Amino acid sequence: ASSEFRYKRVLLKVSGEVLMGEQGYGIDMNTVAEVAKAVADVAREGVEICLVIGGGNIFRGLSKAAGDMDRASADYMGMLATVMNALAMQAALEKIGVQTRVQSALVMNAVAEPYVRRRALRHLEKGRVVIFAAGVGAPFFTTDSGAALRAAEMGCDALLKGTSVDGVYTADPKKDPTATRYESLSYHDVLAKDLKVMDASAVALMRDSGIPIVVFSIREDGSFRNTLTGKGAFTVIS
Ligand code: UDP
Repeated sequence: ASSEFRYKRVLLKVSGEVLMGEQGYGIDMNTVAEVAKAVADVAREGVEICLVIGGGNIFRGLSKAAGDMDRASADYMGMLATVMNALAMQAALEKIGVQTRVQSALVMNAVAEPYVRRRALRHLEKGRVVIFAAGVGAPFFTTDSGAALRAAEMGCDALLKGTSVDGVYTADPKKDPTATRYESLSYHDVLAKDLKVMDASAVALMRDSGIPIVVFSIREDGSFRNTLTGKGAFTVIS
């Protein structure tokens, strides 16, 4: 990677909600294409990229839609939602010439490779973007935990969380105009203050693995690249 970048290998976690764009539900292919462009822009310069996409734009195990279902079955539906998002992202990346592989934690041979750690590492070395689908492959988890687990397994230098807000704030900046952004936080701060950045299990795993979490807004043009080069607004948790 060009020396401009702070990290050689990163995992980018994008929540499903980002992919629905201005729609209230589902996949907005224009938004997917924008995220793909941001990823392609840095992948072409040699940054090794792992992607984890959530499923909240389609189905969440804890949502109203899950109704009277048992939690585990609803969670499996949520995992399937992440597979759909992964395929949409793969299509958008390949359309602009980026080589990708989808690896799923739930085996679905006709659709994606099964998750195999050493194979995923090989893809990264070859410059392919690896999209990890179906979270950790188990209910009672979220894709945040899946992202943290894969970041640790892939030996990533950072876990980037792309959201609709450019970092972690003292309060919700959309509701409270006096809220200010933290430049940096410790894992302990996030856990002790119960800041809603990522699931506690994901934060704890990043702490134990010594991998920084960088929270930034993926909605702004060039923000992924800027964050990787230390420019612009973001919050670093380390
Ligand atoms: N899920 C799960 N195990 C995992 C990952 C995801 O059970 O390892 C289910 C869970 O029901 C979750 C849904 O998939 O609500 C969608 O993922 P998530 O809510 O993390 O998506 P995001 O909020 O990032 O869009």
